[in-house]
This record gives sequence, C-alpha cells and structure tokens, in this order.
Amino acid sequence: MENDIFCKIINKEIPTGFVYENDEVVAFKDINPKAPVHILIVPKKHIESVADLKEEDAHLGLNLILTAKKLAEEQGIAESGYRLQFNVRRGGGQLVDHIHLHLLGGKQLE
Ligand code: AMP
Repeated sequence: MENDIFCKIINKEIPTGFVYENDEVVAFKDINPKAPVHILIVPKKHIESVADLKEEDAHLGLNLILTAKKLAEEQGIAESGYRLQFNVRRGGGQLVDHIHLHLLGGKQLE
C-alpha cells in the first residue's frame, strides 16, 4: 500500500467528496483551484507518473481522458473548451507522486 496523499484520499483516510468514481478512477476538486473548474482525475492504482506507465496501463490512460471528457460535459465547459494537463516529475511541476490528470476550464486559459 502506497502512502501518498492521493492514495489516502482514494482509501478514504482523508475525507474528500468525489465528483466521479468508477472501478479504475476517482475525480475530486483541486484544493487550490487554478480555474473556476479544476478537477483532478486519479487512477485508483498507484502509479507515480506518466513516465512510469506501462503498456498494460493503456486502458487506464484512456479511462482518465474519457472521464475528463465526461466531467467537462457535466461541468458545462465542453463547448467553450478546456485544458487537460499531466505534470510529469519535478521538472514538469508534479508535486504529488501519483498520476493525476488536471481538468481546467471555465475561463479563458492562456
Ligand atoms: P501536481 O503539481 O500536478 O502534482 O498537482 C497536484 C495538485 O494536487 C495541486 O494542484 C494541488 O492543489 C492538489 N492537491 C494537493 N492536495 C490535495 C487535496 N488534499 N485535495 C485536493 N487537491 C489536492
């Protein structure tokens, strides 16, 4: 069992409201939002970063993206547009070592 903060959220050790959950992923609001809509889509499986994905994780990667698409529609930002962002390792700005996809929207992003 890994001990990063997102594993604790997934395991409900840190109470966090999920905006979405399926067998493979959960999604919850970013605690420090950078846009009116800022949701993190996170696999239940502990994988540290995109750089650590394996061929066997292909379905999971697609699930993250399709979940983001679904949430963008639910949040009413599909038409206006949005940003999907993976930060990869420290040089890419990744602070939590558990893959997560940022869904950002609801304002004009530069
Ligand atoms: P990254 O820099 O890509 O690793 O992004 C990590 C994100 O996790 C940041 O945007 C943080 O604001 C967010 N975050 C950290 N702790 C929590 C938490 N307990 N609940 C929700 N979001 C969090």
